[in-house]
Parts: sequence; C-alpha cells; structure tokens
Amino acid sequence: MYECIVIGAGIEGSATAYNLAKGGTKGVLLLEQYEACHNRGSSCGQSRITRRAYETLFYVEMMTDAYKMWSDLEKEAGTTLYKRTGVMVFGGNGDPYVQQTIKSMKIANIPHDVLSGAEINRRFPKQMKIPDDYMCVIEEDAGILYAQKALRAMQEQFQKMGGTLLDRHEVTEIVPGDIVTVVTNRGLFKANYVVIAAGPWAPALCSSIGVHLPFKVSRIEVGYWRVEDPTLFDSSTFPTFLYADGEGHFRYYGLPIEEYPGLLKVCAHFGPNVDPDNRDAVGGPVTSSMTSKFINGTFRGVQKKPSITEFCMYTVSPDDAPVIDKHPQHDNIIIAAGFSGHGFKLSPVFGKLLSQLVMKKTPSHDLHPFRLSRFLSTFMSKL
Ligand SMILES: Cc1cc2nc3c(=O)[nH]c(=O)nc-3n(C[C@H](O)[C@H](O)[C@H](O)COP(=O)(O)OP(=O)(O)OC[C@H]3O[C@@H](n4cnc5c(N)ncnc54)[C@H](O)[C@@H]3O)c2cc1C
Repeated sequence: MYECIVIGAGIEGSATAYNLAKGGTKGVLLLEQYEACHNRGSSCGQSRITRRAYETLFYVEMMTDAYKMWSDLEKEAGTTLYKRTGVMVFGGNGDPYVQQTIKSMKIANIPHDVLSGAEINRRFPKQMKIPDDYMCVIEEDAGILYAQKALRAMQEQFQKMGGTLLDRHEVTEIVPGDIVTVVTNRGLFKANYVVIAAGPWAPALCSSIGVHLPFKVSRIEVGYWRVEDPTLFDSSTFPTFLYADGEGHFRYYGLPIEEYPGLLKVCAHFGPNVDPDNRDAVGGPVTSSMTSKFINGTFRGVQKKPSITEFCMYTVSPDDAPVIDKHPQHDNIIIAAGFSGHGFKLSPVFGKLLSQLVMKKTPSHDLHPFRLSRFLSTFMSKL
C-alpha cells in the first residue's frame, strides 16, 4: 500500500514524485512502462530551451520559481543542468507573439532588449539574415537545460529521499475508489492517491476512467543541421531562438551547438498527429522541408538538409496549457497532461503544484489556467 502512485516517469511525473518526497510524503511509487529515461515519450533528448520570455504572464511569473528550483536541484545532485545562452524571440513587424512577450516581460520586470531585424543582423552578421523590419526580444538569462541529465537527477533525488521507481511496469487499468488500485503488467498496487502523468498516453488512460481530454498528440522532428563554421553557432556565442508565425504562436525554434559537434538544432513546433503506440507509422520526416525553408531565409552558413533527425512527441491542448486538476468524480486521482511542447522548463513548478494537490496544501500558483472545467463540454463521458 502506497500513499501516492505517480504514473509516468517523464519529467512531469518525476518532478511530481520528487516534490512529494521533498515535501515529506512517505510511500511514493513512480511507475514507468518503459525503462527509465527512455527516448519514446516527450522528455527524451539532451536539451531544452528555458526562458522567462513568455507571451503569457503567469508562465513568466512561474518561471521565476522554476529557475530557483532548477538551481536547487543542481546543488542537491551536485551537477550542472543549466547553461546560460540567452534566447532570441523574433517575428515579422508587429508580430503579436513577440509584442505580447515584450509586454509580459515588462509587467513582470524581467530584463530584456528589444531590437529590430537590422540590429539583429548587425549583432550576428555572419549568422543571421532576417528582414530589417523584423522585431525581436532578447532575454540574456535564458538558456539550455540538459534534459536527460535533469530527468535523471530528478529521479535519483526522489529515490534518495526514499521514493520507489519501478520501470518496465505498464499500467493497464486504474480502478477508482477510496483506495485506488493500479493494475500493471507485473501485478497490482494500491494507494490513497494517484497522479496520472502519462504524457502522450495520458488521454487514453484518462479516457478509461471517464475523462476525455480534447488533446492531440503530434510527432515532432528534431533536426540537427550542419553549419559551415561551428564557432559561429556555438552555445557560448549564439542564443537559443524562437520564430513567431504572425498568428500568436511560435512556429520554429532552435538551440545552438551543444549536443552534436557542428550541428545546429532547429525544429518545427508542429508535426503530424500520431498514435503514441505507433508513432512512426506516419513514415519519415514530414516537416523538414518547411524547416529548411525557414533556415534558408533566416541563417547564413547552414546546410539545406538535416544531418540527423530524431523524433519526440507533444501532447497539445486546445489552449496550449496543461491540465493540472483532480478527477471530477474521484478527487484522489489527479491529472497532469497536455504540456503542449513547452512543459520541460516549468516541470519543477508543475511537479510542486501537483504535489500540493495530493498533500492538500495551498497551491503556490493560481491553478485556474490549468482547470479541467475549461474543456467542460468535451471532458466527461456520457455515462
Ligand atoms: C522535440 C521536443 C522539444 C521540446 N522542447 C522544449 C523546450 O525547449 N522547452 C520546454 O520547456 N519544453 C520543451 N518540450 C516539451 C517538454 O519536453 C514536454 O512538455 C515534457 O517533456 C512532457 O513531459 P511528460 O512527463 O508530460 O511526458 P513524457 O515525457 O512522455 O512522460 C510520460 C511518461 O509516462 C509513461 N507512461 C505512459 N503510459 C504509461 C502507462 N500506462 N504505464 C506506465 N507508464 C506510462 C511514458 O512511457 C512516459 O515515460 C519539448 C518537447 C519535445 C518533444
């Protein structure tokens, strides 16, 4: 018998388990269907962008806590998880995403510089060739999180605090009740609370207990593009970046050279909808030709085809915000899903909020943006 079972050892489930243990909860079990730190979900790969440069004010505010929590984890684990590179958010003249990002950063008092396309081209004359009238905001304190290292550190600290991680345990059934039964391919477990943090598999698991999340799972192509002069795009000389699409979102993003020598990481922030159990049934790369066009119009000295393409998945909610809430009928089952391709940097804060829901503590941030009820018309089964 456990106090809490967390289903899914991606970054959100691991952060929840870590925060539960840190908050003093004894008897926490973290279940993972594959081997720990596998590469078939959403938390795979070596790097993620971290930034306060967000268009949504509550994320800007949550990121202040996230930076502190990542730094605490670095100290606890005795390792480096963050590298400061800056982030450059840019788009066409008057782009709403860039404008809103600048506005939110101003309100939250986050240091930033606003530049035109011409100024960016002058700052990076050998790397950038964007139109002169583009608008851009730079946040110098943004950077890279070492994703796999961070996931491992979170899990190791959780286990050091007495938590149990069982990988290769696939949850096949959740039986609600005052005590919840969690059935796996290797036996069943019981707990007072369950947190479902199953990433792309969360919609199916939630559906099995009557909650139908209107989420889409997309396959994302992580492209690594060879550059002519690696020193120009090195993480000590070039920032991470997001390109906004003119419609209030960002469409392409990338990270300077860090993982593979000589290769710049550039990805489309969209991809084909997939079934997470058959992710690659859609075939080979779908978005790389569009990403190539973006690269060609933006950067100098980058090859036209990716040298490496890896795959990863997003679970996308209609408003790009996750659900962090109790099951509407079983308040000892908590749902954490739909992190919409930007949940890594915020995971310490999301994990803390989830642990606070379990421990019945006052949430450290407003949970309204993450309520299930915003999808009221679609989420309940018609039983
Ligand atoms: C290519 C890419 C780039 C990204 N870039 C950024 C970025 O720059 N910055 C940022 O902040 N975020 C970024 N993100 C988003 C971020 O990585 C995700 O929001 C985050 O990893 C989601 O984690 P998760 O724990 O919800 O999902 P996952 O990592 O998929 O974890 C869910 C886990 O649950 C397990 N599971 C599922 N079903 C079961 C079951 N039945 N039984 C047991 N276990 C189960 C799965 O195997 C999986 O390990 C990116 C994502 C991708 C794919």
